[in-house]
Amino acid sequence: ATPTALMVGVGRGAQLGILIKGHDALEASGRIDAVVFDKTGTLTTGIMRVDAVVARDGADAGAVLALAAAVERGSEHAIARAVVAHADETGAAQVAATDHRTLPGLGVRAVVGGREILVGGPGLLLDQGVEVPASLRAELDRRGAAGHTTVVVAAGATAQAVIALSDTVKPSAAPAVARLRSLGLRTILLTGDGPAAAAAVARAAGIDDVRSQVLPAAKAAAVERLRADGRRVAMVGDGINDAAALAAADLGIAVVDGTDVAMRAAGIIVVRDDLRAVVDAVELSRKTLSTIR
Ligand code: ADP
Ligand code: MG
Repeated sequence: ATPTALMVGVGRGAQLGILIKGHDALEASGRIDAVVFDKTGTLTTGIMRVDAVVARDGADAGAVLALAAAVERGSEHAIARAVVAHADETGAAQVAATDHRTLPGLGVRAVVGGREILVGGPGLLLDQGVEVPASLRAELDRRGAAGHTTVVVAAGATAQAVIALSDTVKPSAAPAVARLRSLGLRTILLTGDGPAAAAAVARAAGIDDVRSQVLPAAKAAAVERLRADGRRVAMVGDGINDAAALAAADLGIAVVDGTDVAMRAAGIIVVRDDLRAVVDAVELSRKTLSTIR
C-alpha cells in the first residue's frame, strides 16, 4: 500500500464528509462485507416525540409524566430528551429527584419523595420484577404493534403509565441500505428497543436481518459472532449503548451528533448528516485499494 494513495484517499474522504482516522481505517472500509446499524440516533434521527401518556386506572397521567421527567433529567438518551420536552411543553409540575442511575439499554431510575421511580422498556420491567396491570399491557401491545417505542413508568414494583414515543427514519437510510446491498454487503439492524419498533424501522430502511432487545454488551457480542463467522464487520452507531460494539467491529463508524465515546471508538466519523456517506467510504476505499495494487 503506497502511503501517497492512502493520503489522497483520506483527503478525498474529507471532501465527502467522511473523517478517516488513519490508513488502517481506510483499508478496513474497503474490505468489509457486513454493515451493522444501530437504530436510535443512527438509522433514525433520534429526535423522538411523545405521542401519548396512558396512566393506569386511578393514576393521573400528568402527575406520572412529571415523575418520569424528573427521573429522565438524569439521562441523555433520546427517550429522556423527548419525555423531558413533553413534560415542559405540557406544563407538568417540576418534581425533585435524587440518586439518578442509568441501567444501560434498559432504562433509568431515581428516588422521588422517598419512592423509587423506574422508567424503561420491557427488559427493565422483567429485570426489576415490575407488575404491569392488564390495561397497560394491552396498551403496550397496541402501541408496539403500531411501531411505537414504548416505556413504562413504575413506582416501586407497580407500573403507573405507558409512554408511547415515535422517531423518524432518516431519509438517507433506505437509499444507503439499497446501495450497500447492490455492492454485495449484508446489512443488519441491532437495537436495544423491542421487536415491533425494531421491525418498523427495519422495514422502512429495507433491512431484513433484525435483532431487537439486545443489551449493550450483547451488541458487542453479536458483532464478535459475525466476525467469528468470517464476516468483516462495520458497525455504525452513535455511541449511546453501542460504544462497545463500535470498538468490537473491524471498523467502527460514528455518525454526526454521536457521543464523544463514539468518536473515540470509531475509525471513521461521518460528519455529513447522510447515511450514504457510509457507502461512499466503502467505495472510496475500494477504489483507493485497487489503485494501490
Ligand atoms: P437503540 O439500540 O435503539 O439505540 P438503546 O440500546 O439505546 O436503543 O436503548 C434500548 C432500550 O432501553 C430503549 O428502547 C428503552 O426501552 C430502554 N431505555 C434506554 N434508555 C432509556 C431511558 N433514558 N429511558 C427509558 N428507557 C430507556
Ligand atoms: Mg443508539
